[in-house]
This record gives sequence, C-alpha cells and structure tokens, in this order.
Amino acid sequence: MDLIAAPSPNFDARTAPPDMIVLHYTGMPTGEAALARLRDPEAKVSSHYLVEEDGRVFSLVAEERRAWHAGVSFWRGETNINAVSVGIEIVNPGHEFGYCPFPDAQIASVIELVGDIRGRWTVPDERLLGHSDVAPARKEDPGELFPWKQLAEAGHGLWAEPAAAPGAPLGEGDEGPGVFAFQAGLTRLGYDCAPSGVYEPRTATIVRAFQRHWRPGRVDGVADGETRSRLMALLRLAAG
Ligand SMILES: [Zn+2]
Repeated sequence: MDLIAAPSPNFDARTAPPDMIVLHYTGMPTGEAALARLRDPEAKVSSHYLVEEDGRVFSLVAEERRAWHAGVSFWRGETNINAVSVGIEIVNPGHEFGYCPFPDAQIASVIELVGDIRGRWTVPDERLLGHSDVAPARKEDPGELFPWKQLAEAGHGLWAEPAAAPGAPLGEGDEGPGVFAFQAGLTRLGYDCAPSGVYEPRTATIVRAFQRHWRPGRVDGVADGETRSRLMALLRLAAG
C-alpha cells in the first residue's frame, strides 16, 4: 500500500519479532498535532504507523524496530508490549476531544495495513488488540466506536456473538465461585485479572475494557449473561 514517510526518532531495538498488533486512537484535536507529537524527540512516544481520517497512512518507525506506544501494559503475562507489537495510531479526537465514528476510508486503510503487517509477521487473531486491552486502568482507546466486528469479518481478530445467555449479572461487590471463574476466563484470554473471587473495582475496569472491544453496546463494567457468554465463545475461538 502507499505509505507516506514521516520518520520518528522515538524508537529503539527489538528483542524479538513482533507477534501482536496494538490499535490506538490519537486522542488529540487534529491528526497534524498527533503526527507532530509522535515525531517529537521530547515527547518520547511514537507508533509504527498513523492512519488519517481520509485513509492516508504515514510510516513513522520501521516494523523491525521497537516503537514507544503502549506504556505500562500487560497481555498474557507479557509486560513489554512495545517489544512484541506493531503499534498503529488511528486519528480520532477520542473521548476527551469529541469521540466520533471512524470514517470508512480510514477503516479500509487500517484493514489493508493490518493485512500487510500480518503478511510479514506471525500475528495470531487473538493478538490483535486495543490499547485499552493491554492497559485497561489507564487507556480507553481505540474505544467502543472502533469497528472490531468489521475487522474480524475482513479476516483480522477474534469476534463472537453467541446467542444471549441467561444468568444473573455479576458486578462490583459480588463474590464467590462465579466471580472467580469469570476472572479466570478474562485472565485466560489475556487480561491482567488474577482471580480473587471478589468483583473489585479492578475487575469492573477490566470488564469495561473487554466490553469496549467485544461488547461495544454495553460498556458499564457489569458482567451480565451476554458479556460472560461472549467471553466463553472467544476463549473457544482462541483455543482453536
Ligand atoms: Zn493508545
């Protein structure tokens, strides 16, 4: 695909080939401002790519180098997410500056770019993630308006819409084996959610991250039957 060179000095050496893709939104008023920041040596942040609203794709850091996009993060025991991932910044003002739907041209470019990256590196579907998945207590991006389902239909990432399951919702303050099992499932998918059997604020925060990605119609931190059945369906896919 056509890439616009916009080199950033903010990178260092990888210790392993990437096997994960982390999607972000820029969360700044304009794409120009975000691009400038990602190239500013003082900011010490970067990504491999930036995708503008009109679909233009800027290349900032070579894929074989480590870009600095994830910060303090965790997935399946891995805490150096920058070392194992390719980071894509998608221009959107984000929750702070007027969160809005991602234009079709932009998503088409994201899909093409992800396909290209996966043609070069081995990135399993369950390792196509949002920043909020790997840093749920700090980050909300790319957020519940990002069309993860459309990406999955294009062949990239996990998606499941099982028949709605009955069952009493679990929420903050609940405890017991049902909570423990649910936390264990989130941990098995990859979240930093070591089971305690108590639905603490930490668990609600992780559930909101899960919902932003896999149940965008309900981002409230409550594990209702459908949230739990979607998690179980994803675990079956991830194990397959
Ligand atoms: Zn981010």
